[in-house]
Amino acid sequence: MEGSPQQQVKENHWADLHLHSNHSDGVFTPQEIVALAAKLNLRAISIVDHDDVGGIVAAINEGRRLHVEIIPGVELSTHGETFEVHILGYFIDHRNAKILDYLAFFRQERYKRALKILEKLRKLGISLQVERVLQKAGPGSIGRPHIADAMLEEGYVYSFDEAFHKYIGNGRPAYVPKFKTSPEKAIELINSLGGLAFLAHPGIDLRREEVLRLTKIGLDGIETVHPKHNPEKIHWLKQVATQYELLESGGSDCHGNRKGHILMGNYNISYALVERMKETLQKRRTDSPLRRGAE
Ligand code: AMP
Ligand code: FE
Ligand code: FE
Ligand code: ZN
Repeated sequence: MEGSPQQQVKENHWADLHLHSNHSDGVFTPQEIVALAAKLNLRAISIVDHDDVGGIVAAINEGRRLHVEIIPGVELSTHGETFEVHILGYFIDHRNAKILDYLAFFRQERYKRALKILEKLRKLGISLQVERVLQKAGPGSIGRPHIADAMLEEGYVYSFDEAFHKYIGNGRPAYVPKFKTSPEKAIELINSLGGLAFLAHPGIDLRREEVLRLTKIGLDGIETVHPKHNPEKIHWLKQVATQYELLESGGSDCHGNRKGHILMGNYNISYALVERMKETLQKRRTDSPLRRGAE
């Protein structure tokens, strides 16, 4: 976390580049997120829905109205050596057919996976209607949090977290992994959309060796600031970024107020990091022979 909340409000030099809307497993609409960002005096935000870009246009329009800069982004699910690896894409062309096709496919895979999870739950005595879960997912890609919401609503668990701990969390009896794709493929896709690829929350469950391996596969940067990174982790990740000449990103990974508290506004990064991203993109564009040829 950088600076006190008072400083953040006064200077208006802050950004939160990790937010989820109701287009994936967040609670707020893109418009509500932008309104909150304006209230918190954030200069720039990025809504990085899990495997979904459906909220970006609404966010950009509302951002124009409320003077909040919206960086088009996405958080792609991939598989690492042991755990899932999430890759963040920033400044992507969110209208590009390549990403729309890929996400349509992934969405279908997520739906099939949800059916498998419901089947496993049924065998454990928990009977949920798929329509109910789809309703929870709303306009976006379906995920385990929507199943947890439905379980809670039907009284099968006492809390959202209990649903994960007992049933659908990693390695639990009703767990089903997502379609397997590699971090390398996600990075390639983000690059082809003209965006920058970042490793999301490397400090949560990835081993240090895996983080170091991932720094060498074409990432542009790593996420250093995240609510689940303690100060030592942030310190180590900043060192890694410097050593391997990687950009830094960060944010609150806010999913709204499902659990009561709203994380947004408490894990901001300096807007200077956004400027560094833009400089990198600018340099890449001027350096590209293809681009030069076209001009
Ligand atoms: P999915 O993309 O369907 O695998 O769902 C992943 C999302 O579920 C994460 O982004 C979190 O929002 C949430 N999640 C994962 N594990 C847990 C957990 N143990 N407790 C609470 N929420 C979790
Ligand atoms: Fe999530
Ligand atoms: Fe993530
Ligand atoms: Zn996230």
